[in-house]
Amino acid sequence: MTMIDEGIRSEAVTFHPEKGLALETITLAAPGKGQVRVDIKATGVCHSDLHILNGDWPVDRPLVMGHEASGTVADIGPEVQGVAVGDHVVLSWFAPCGHCRNCAAGRGWLCTGTKALDNTLPDGTTAYSDADGAPLWPYLGLGTFSNSVIVPESAVVVVPKELPFDVGALLGCSITTGIGAVVNTAKVPMGSSTLVVGCGGVGLSIVMGLKLIGANPIIAADVSEEKLAKAAELGATHTLRADTTDVVSWAQENYGGVDFAFEAIGRIQSIESLPGTLAPGGTAVLVGMTAQGLRASIDPFDLADQGKSILGCNYGSSVARVDIPKLAGLYLAGQLPLDQLIGSVRPLHQAQAALDDLRRGKGLRSVLRPATAAADL
Ligand SMILES: [Zn+2]
Ligand SMILES: [Zn+2]
Repeated sequence: MTMIDEGIRSEAVTFHPEKGLALETITLAAPGKGQVRVDIKATGVCHSDLHILNGDWPVDRPLVMGHEASGTVADIGPEVQGVAVGDHVVLSWFAPCGHCRNCAAGRGWLCTGTKALDNTLPDGTTAYSDADGAPLWPYLGLGTFSNSVIVPESAVVVVPKELPFDVGALLGCSITTGIGAVVNTAKVPMGSSTLVVGCGGVGLSIVMGLKLIGANPIIAADVSEEKLAKAAELGATHTLRADTTDVVSWAQENYGGVDFAFEAIGRIQSIESLPGTLAPGGTAVLVGMTAQGLRASIDPFDLADQGKSILGCNYGSSVARVDIPKLAGLYLAGQLPLDQLIGSVRPLHQAQAALDDLRRGKGLRSVLRPATAAADL
């Protein structure tokens, strides 16, 4: 990173709708009012990044990629009150506006005023530009595949300095989504029978959440032996190969259906089969994100007749400032083995290889580290 007249330079992984991924040197403006500059120490590679690359969620502008990360506060703009230079922080990709009806009611995950989903800062601008001075936009308001980011204070969550940066990065998205789906969205009672379809970063986090609250059984389904083995390590009581087992029949024959079934892939076929895995009165929770515009079909008679429910879950119905420190505390107390979700750790410039692994369903969660972070870890 080099100081230049008008800002700070940073290596970043960008996505251009015409050209795809690129590694380029970008310029960051100084943090404006209510903004914070964070030096990224670790950033996770998530399906939401892949959805952009695949064109599942079309974008009309070049982005700085990445949205789950941790780092240290390097600079603060005017009127920043809650964080100081040197603080260790986790970034939350759903920076709430703080003013809408849902924010006022404490349901920040349903914020209707956030600009994060438009890939801009809260005032509709970006702090990033390319070598020619053209704007580059922050993916989900962050753009964490970069040495440094400029983000609103509302996206920054201070965490204990003992928390490893790699774990902190995953707390920004996948872990908080998965555990939140269990404890916030579905509020699964102790002893409930449960099924998790898909054991990527979010699915394995759901398994950990179910273990934490004392669900039984915890049935995990996936097509990968490696992921099923990890699910068993993290608390799954049964593992099913989804490519060779009829999961619906298995759940009905062995348990008369489950109380709670979670879909953590965003695959239409598994979403459609989910209500069939439930016991009467059971709840299906849709956590995995599909491409936009897809439709799924359900059996409405079965749903009404058997009193079954389907819940949608975004970001684990989490309030970042409440849930992220809570989960960090449970990790530090030895009650949530969050570090076990981390597969490969690579330098930032290998983002493409990490995304290719994710597309092929290979390995556990990938974490990228900017070259500037290496010395600190
Ligand atoms: Zn994510
Ligand atoms: Zn809001």
